[in-house]
Amino acid sequence: MPTIFSHAFLPLAAGATLGRSRVSPGLAFAGAALAVLPDLDVIGFPLGIGYGSQWGHRGFTHSLVFAGAIAAAIALLWRPVRSFGAFAFLFICAVSHPLFDLLTDGGQGVMLFWPFDHQRLFLEWQPIRVSPIGARFFSERGLETVRSELLLLWLPGLLVSIGAFIWRRQRRLRTEL
Ligand SMILES: [Zn+2]
Repeated sequence: MPTIFSHAFLPLAAGATLGRSRVSPGLAFAGAALAVLPDLDVIGFPLGIGYGSQWGHRGFTHSLVFAGAIAAAIALLWRPVRSFGAFAFLFICAVSHPLFDLLTDGGQGVMLFWPFDHQRLFLEWQPIRVSPIGARFFSERGLETVRSELLLLWLPGLLVSIGAFIWRRQRRLRTEL
């Protein structure tokens, strides 16, 4: 996985890019939570669930079906955001997690099409260093992960959100004139 910070960062950056009127802060934070959620499956390791299992790491929680179900549940049950737009935003946030995992260079592949297909997938292009899990994160390898994510995810995300912020501000100033 990329680090959980990067998984959470992208929905927040997307929320900032789209603006408060389209994505409320609450919805952006819910999106960030959904983008992190799939990696809770690491609790399977101490429970004795093997990496290869569909219930293990990068198994069912990393599928399109899981992303769709959890996004639909929140968009239906959370009254303030109940809308198709909120569902679409949450789904994209949730699905961003396995999609970024597809771009990492280690671990096992992602069961994107679970339960229909249990194949574990990777993309040919894997520019993101896989994040070491637990204490091993604080190592040279962990530093390399952070470096690759800063360059490939954070920098473009920040540039787009800052660009969108400036553009919205200019537009508001023009309409006020
Ligand atoms: Zn993951």
